[in-house]
Amino acid sequence: MNHQIKFCKHINMFTINRPRESCHFASDFCFKNCYHAKMENLYARYKEEADKKEEAYWHQITGEQIATFLSTKRTRPTDRFRLMSRGEALTNKRDIWRVYDICMNNLDTLFMLPTKAWRSHRMMEYMKDILSNCPNLRLLFSTDPDIWSEALKVIGAHMPHPLIARMTLTYFGTDEFPADLEVFKCPKTWDKGTLVTCATCQTGCFIEDRDRLKIIHFRKH
Ligand code: SF4
Repeated sequence: MNHQIKFCKHINMFTINRPRESCHFASDFCFKNCYHAKMENLYARYKEEADKKEEAYWHQITGEQIATFLSTKRTRPTDRFRLMSRGEALTNKRDIWRVYDICMNNLDTLFMLPTKAWRSHRMMEYMKDILSNCPNLRLLFSTDPDIWSEALKVIGAHMPHPLIARMTLTYFGTDEFPADLEVFKCPKTWDKGTLVTCATCQTGCFIEDRDRLKIIHFRKH
């Protein structure tokens, strides 16, 4: 099977995608404001085929395959990788083990994984049990105005925990942040002239901080 790993220029990282049907835990806000909808409408006639290929690829991918792929790349950054730029990587326990395998076979690469799987109590428990052992995984617990309070409750109930130390809470929805908390504004989305990309960002999603809850605010777009 041909690989479906793409290089995404605007974040300067390799990425794997899945169809939007994998977004099992999306909020209503997320469905209404999905940043991929516009693109998918533009390429509607290719969507079905692309979706099938990406989903089939995800189901057979192993950490070793990704290691082999990355080992051949000389001119593009391989120390950071995104799972995923479209769709949800974590829909069930098998996905969690797949991500574990990917991380543990590629310890020189940091994996950024935005997810709303924290909305499922069962998935949260699996993540804590399995993914806490991956030192190179950076989970982004994705939130928006619909589920911001829900996220705070979930995190409060599970802290402190090693998984939460490597997790960042991300907020997207309005330019106004909904609480009086210390927030890092994502330079890529707030500063139009910035040269920072996710591959070079030093203070955002990739840092690990065991002492405080990291929150990143993405600008409305
Ligand atoms: S905070 Fe940094 S790493 Fe996170 S999305 Fe923004 S630019 Fe990328």
